[in-house]
Amino acid sequence: MVLNFKHKYLIYRIISMIFYAFSQKKSGLRVLMYHSINRKVEDDIYDIYNMPNDLFEKHIKIIKDYNLVSLKEENLLKIPTGLSITFDDGFANNYYIAEKLCSLFEIPFSVFVTANNVKQKKEGFLNKKELIDLSNCKNVNIGSHSFNHINLAEHDEKKIRNELYNSKAYLEDLLGKEINTISYPNGSVNRVVRDCAADIGYKIGFTSINQINDDHSDLLLLSRTPIYSLDNENILKQKIRGQWDWMRHRRKIFKKIKFY
Ligand SMILES: [Zn+2]
Repeated sequence: MVLNFKHKYLIYRIISMIFYAFSQKKSGLRVLMYHSINRKVEDDIYDIYNMPNDLFEKHIKIIKDYNLVSLKEENLLKIPTGLSITFDDGFANNYYIAEKLCSLFEIPFSVFVTANNVKQKKEGFLNKKELIDLSNCKNVNIGSHSFNHINLAEHDEKKIRNELYNSKAYLEDLLGKEINTISYPNGSVNRVVRDCAADIGYKIGFTSINQINDDHSDLLLLSRTPIYSLDNENILKQKIRGQWDWMRHRRKIFKKIKFY
């Protein structure tokens, strides 16, 4: 059976309501994963990673009231309860929209940049000047999202090392700052990718698996909660509470349903 995303989303919402009844409130570091604001993401057929501006504003007004944590903070996982927000891919709107709004409320956030998009001046993505300006904003952390946005776990070690090393070197050279955080493109990570990242000098790495992080979590395999363009304010609160954490098992649960 093939369902379109809106149907699946309805099922997700229902399961999340049921899950709430059985879930216990957990403390730890919750990390949210955004992508683009007001601009379509390539290959995003259901337009789920393109957050409307007005909805993003509503999210920010909710997020500002949590204990917000910067990924630059030492002892990240010792913080009993915290929330951190991240953006993947390096869209120019992260600078022109997200930064403007986040800075109003002093919300720290991270942007994980696909280095080759910057190098090639790909339309819609941060160019060199915008990235430098963004990196100099207060409360902003820039991290790597590999060099070419490939599924790292599907490649051999040599290719993995090149992707991890070249993106770090390119961004460090451009920004004059150490780059020690990474988000693995499409959440594609295995033991080899994780160990290469550690070897190359990354300190913090992110997957896209719904879960809260605690002081037992591997700093190079931290979980994040994906945020979709359909998530209203109520759903955002549910996701922060952990009601959608069952989603990390969804491939097992919906084996017969084709997910894109
Ligand atoms: Zn990505």
